[in-house]
Amino acid sequence: MTRIYLDANATTPVAPEVLEAMLPYFGALGGNASSAHAAGQQARSAVEKGRAQVASLLQCTAKEIVFTSGGTESDNLALRGVLEPFLQRGEAAHLITTQMEHHAVLYAAEALEKRGVAVTYVAPKADGVVDADEVAAAMRPETRLVSVMLANNETGAVQPVGKIARLAKERGVLVHTDAVQAAGKLLLDMAGEFKNVDLLSISGHKLYAPQGIGVLFVRKGVTIAAMQHGGPQERQRRAGTENVPGIVGMGKAAELAQKWLERGGSEELAALRDVLEQGIVQGVEGARVNAAEARRVANTANLQMEGVDAESLLMALDMQGVAASFGSACMSGATEPSHVLLSMGLTPQQARGSLRLSLTRDATLAEMEQAAAITVAAVKRLRALARS
Ligand code: PLP
Repeated sequence: MTRIYLDANATTPVAPEVLEAMLPYFGALGGNASSAHAAGQQARSAVEKGRAQVASLLQCTAKEIVFTSGGTESDNLALRGVLEPFLQRGEAAHLITTQMEHHAVLYAAEALEKRGVAVTYVAPKADGVVDADEVAAAMRPETRLVSVMLANNETGAVQPVGKIARLAKERGVLVHTDAVQAAGKLLLDMAGEFKNVDLLSISGHKLYAPQGIGVLFVRKGVTIAAMQHGGPQERQRRAGTENVPGIVGMGKAAELAQKWLERGGSEELAALRDVLEQGIVQGVEGARVNAAEARRVANTANLQMEGVDAESLLMALDMQGVAASFGSACMSGATEPSHVLLSMGLTPQQARGSLRLSLTRDATLAEMEQAAAITVAAVKRLRALARS
């Protein structure tokens, strides 16, 4: 059976070049980057090379890169690192975020809310995009941080973060963006379009680097409180021995992503995604693309199939070798309708009938045609079963 992997937004495979770059750091070149001996110094220079490669992808300076354990930690460090000092000083603090953030941001916001931070959760419009002016209108004198994701992990909808950051800057408010699903799919120019963004999260395993490595960009001049007690690593912003192989992999992945974007990879991938999406829309009666009107990252499709339970569809696709995902989150065994789709105004039933297909950079036309045909046939079978 051919296997077609359409769940890149859950995790991407490690690119062969990334693996190759990492391997020596598990063996002959292994060392602690804080050690003074030669092995330690080798590890240190590998870490600094990785930092420079990531800085190049973001068009920022190496000192602005903080390595973490992944997107979740980067998001938590951004929100808590900015807001905890206000709580500690007993000063009023207000955070603005959106209803469709990843739980790494949403639950961090909720935890801060319980401890006294006022939080505004802005809803996206029906197209899955928040209105920058609505975000700006929610700002108050005590607003300390705005956190709006750059690309949504379920719909791929790109948010107006550049504009939000400009409006926030005018009011002296810091801005964080969760760019976990945007890195490697969109150009992230921290000196250009995103020059007013103060903090930005990236995760290795959405970028063809391994799981367990992440980055928080912290703009020069922005101070965050460290969340872990320990050594002085990462310029006192993130204690703990550096994940040297992970950082080497992240650096290589950043370099590959930059080359791929520069040679028009994103446009080619969007064309393949459209073949898949249109194949399903044309073959399945009542199928609709969620966030169709939004600008979306190239690899993501989210489709609503009237009258179909996405959980059953997912199982049917898996049996045919197609790995996809829900437009909903599986929490403690029960399938909850996706908070992202609900925030866009879908009904729980429509959300439960939504399927997320997310392509890797290696997707081929033949695979997309085949995946569309398999999906169409599976939906027809499930509908026939439901009628019988
Ligand atoms: N933010 C977004 C938008 C994500 O899609 C994810 C992972 O799915 C995360 C944060 C969490 O990243 P990690 O898995 O590296 O902790």
